[in-house]
Amino acid sequence: MSTIDLTRDHATTTSRGVKPPAPPEAFEHTKLRQGEFWRAIPKYGDVDEQTFLDHVWQYRNSVKTPDELMGTVRDLAPKAFIEDARAGFHRAPMNVRVSPYMMALIDWSNPYDDPIRTQFIPLASRLLPDHPKLALDSLHELEDAPVPGLTHRYEDKALFLPLNTCPVYCRFCTRAYAIGGDTETVEKAELATDPKRWQDAFDYIASRPELEDIVISGGDTYQLPARSLQRIGDALLDIPHVRRLRYATKGPAVMPSKIISDQPWLDALTNVVQRGRALGKDVVLHTHFNNPNEITWITERAMRMLFERGIFVRNQTVLIRGVNDDPRTMRLLVKRLGYLNVHPYYVYMHDMTKGVEDLRTTVQAAIDIEKFVRGSTAGFNTPAFVCDAPGGGGKRDVHSFDHYDRENGIAVYSAPSVKPDQWFLYFDPIDRLSKMAQARWGDAREQERMIAAALAAAGA
Ligand SMILES: *Cc1c(COP(=O)(O)O)cnc(C)c1O
Ligand code: SF4
Repeated sequence: MSTIDLTRDHATTTSRGVKPPAPPEAFEHTKLRQGEFWRAIPKYGDVDEQTFLDHVWQYRNSVKTPDELMGTVRDLAPKAFIEDARAGFHRAPMNVRVSPYMMALIDWSNPYDDPIRTQFIPLASRLLPDHPKLALDSLHELEDAPVPGLTHRYEDKALFLPLNTCPVYCRFCTRAYAIGGDTETVEKAELATDPKRWQDAFDYIASRPELEDIVISGGDTYQLPARSLQRIGDALLDIPHVRRLRYATKGPAVMPSKIISDQPWLDALTNVVQRGRALGKDVVLHTHFNNPNEITWITERAMRMLFERGIFVRNQTVLIRGVNDDPRTMRLLVKRLGYLNVHPYYVYMHDMTKGVEDLRTTVQAAIDIEKFVRGSTAGFNTPAFVCDAPGGGGKRDVHSFDHYDRENGIAVYSAPSVKPDQWFLYFDPIDRLSKMAQARWGDAREQERMIAAALAAAGA
């Protein structure tokens, strides 16, 4: 009994040492959408490949209004759906902007349940009341900003927001307080492109020798002209203590063809990466895929170009109800990203932002999905599931709560290296709780009692 038979895998094989052949679904991640799939959309019926891949055409034909939505899909979508969207556009805290690439990937025979529609096109019929504890700048990025558009929360890293536009607008954006134009419901803080403001940010970073790591986000660095992308990269690489840069962009997920068609932009990125390498500094791209349907032959070609140039890409996903909150969908996404040499870095709990309660899910769901995904592929391609703690606690491993009241949906986190002696609360969406818990959230005194109890159980 003292020796262990290492050839035997009791859990997964029927006969000794032989693993059964993989089922067809084990190859699903390698099967990418091919061909001119966009031609099924009435407005793009005559659009050839060269035009569809052209990023200027993609920008010009993005859908921003209900009328443009109708003009693009025409009778592919039911009339009632268009009216639902029209009402949704008016009530949303974010502007709407959907690239033709995304429009073409939506299943218009069932737009209500489509994961790409869910991310970009608000529907009035699906909205839920906000959680009573929800705030617009839920991550306190404005409060932790020493100069406008630079958030210095963690000791050795900072988040630089050089602009406030994106190639698309996501309904669930963390930065709904700043991104896009004013909407009927939110007045945005001013983060428009401003070289003086950029210089203030560079000066601040230069004055803080502990800052090694700068995230350049936005908005979205896809929107930076090649010159500006290079200028920001050079200015930051020139600061001796800066060791790592990340350019963050949703672009590869929503308009991958820009990498193929915008040579100056790709060259500028390549120059910064190469200059960084010569200086012993790490410059990478961070992107944001949420659903496996976003990945097509166009994505594969674009990611291949980055890979050939030695540009490393990491992915950050948001866990979204109806988009990727199903274990098999998340596993497929993770495997498909790994297949394209995109490193799945994080899966975030959905932030507690306004008007998108229908997109959030519970901490328990994240824990269950993580359990399913882990073990399905390389460990280094297995993302960490994190909760960016509301109130500025930073990212916490979802499992590391100090207390989790599953009945009332209250998770308590602490962050000793970020903000010691503080507690951070994340709330599950109320419609996912039991009827009794939902009733308790309807009573203001009960709310305070439940929160106090959760904090006490955490040891606060
Ligand atoms: C996410 C974030 C970073 C980067 O954090 P990593 O865990 O290193 O990816 C830096 N600053 C702020 C404010 C952030 O939100
Ligand atoms: S691309 Fe990023 S910053 Fe822009 S709207 Fe989407 S989530 Fe927000």
